Amino acid sequence: MFNIEEQTMSISLKVRGAIERSSWIRRMFEEGAALIAEYGAENVYDFTLGNPSVEPPAAFRRELRRMAEKPDLGMHRYMNNAGYEETRASVARHIEETSGIPVNSKHIVMTCGAGGALNVTLKTILNPGEEVIILTPFFVEYKFYADNHGGTTKEVWTNPETFQPDIAAIEAAITHNTRAIIINSPNNPTGAVYSAETLTALGRMLDRKQGELGSTIYTISDEPYARLAFDGNSVPPVFRYIRNAVLVTSHSKDLALPGERIGYLAANPSMDDVALFMEGAVFCNRVLGFVNAPALMQRLVAKLQSESVDVTEYQEKRDILYNHLTGLGFEVVKPGGGFYFFPKSPMDDDVEFVRQAQKHNILLVPGSGFGAPGYFRIAYCVEMGIIERSLPAWEKLAKDIGLA
Ligand code: PLP
Repeated sequence: MFNIEEQTMSISLKVRGAIERSSWIRRMFEEGAALIAEYGAENVYDFTLGNPSVEPPAAFRRELRRMAEKPDLGMHRYMNNAGYEETRASVARHIEETSGIPVNSKHIVMTCGAGGALNVTLKTILNPGEEVIILTPFFVEYKFYADNHGGTTKEVWTNPETFQPDIAAIEAAITHNTRAIIINSPNNPTGAVYSAETLTALGRMLDRKQGELGSTIYTISDEPYARLAFDGNSVPPVFRYIRNAVLVTSHSKDLALPGERIGYLAANPSMDDVALFMEGAVFCNRVLGFVNAPALMQRLVAKLQSESVDVTEYQEKRDILYNHLTGLGFEVVKPGGGFYFFPKSPMDDDVEFVRQAQKHNILLVPGSGFGAPGYFRIAYCVEMGIIERSLPAWEKLAKDIGLA
């Protein structure tokens, strides 16, 4: 129980606690901002934010201009909470083409980004106190999102050699209280792309456990980086491998539109009670207060399902940094997609290592921010000039800490 004095403070104790626990992250950003003010943005190598440096594809501007010049009557009004039929049909066609699974507009809800889709999904499925398995290292918002809807999270480490899910460890973590598992490929923060073998093994294990427990365990597949796969590979489509799967994604990364808040969720048509799940998701999209995904963006992305930013640009950046860092002695699992590295911290204390890097104007996020102390994250979705100018600073840092 809280004491009266605490209870009468202005904001909720839970939110206050969350702010206090993450205050060190804010402090690091403030220190980074001070460095930028002192040395100028071109002389500070800011690898902290997953904010794409590239611009949306040309087709985006073309469609935007066309829409402004020839507006449809009523195009800014309220709509069905699931989103426009035309957009959902276009998204469903794209999923069907890439997965071979017959999906239709009834299986799609347009949302305010992947963050919106994750919250809608968790609200739809969670009873109070139920568990969501998350795979370490993880996107930290998962913990807050599960908590938003009365759930708790259970952390299960991925295989540290590959950052692929550890199926036996996930199986050991499943109980009667497990309602969902969140997977994320290509992964933030590791850049790992889950293989078809991993997804096959996960799907089989989940089918067996669901049979044993007599329950539905949803796999929430968070895929905003799905079109950013390297070396000519593509991300294996989750619906082929996992029956009770909900795909959540957005166009924040593949069309470089994170500020426009446009994404969707899609249910595998073979999911248990799929019609009821969809009805629940449309209801939750409404009562969470989003009401629907932004109208203008829905009309645009309906036309852009086969477009993507230039993946080769990210691949080139990965290669330059990967070769440089491994050459200096950093231990890095080579990412198969996305725009992050998650190297081992050469110092036991990852927060201290990040501070050492700051001295060379290199801004990083400690692994502790992803539930994985002993590592650090590099977001390389920055301009090529920053990567190139940072290379000598990495060398000095490596020398300073006795690595090279
Ligand atoms: N999931 C992961 C793994 C992310 O990295 C992000 C954003 O960085 C999101 C979800 C949220 O994306 P959105 O901008 O679509 O809400």
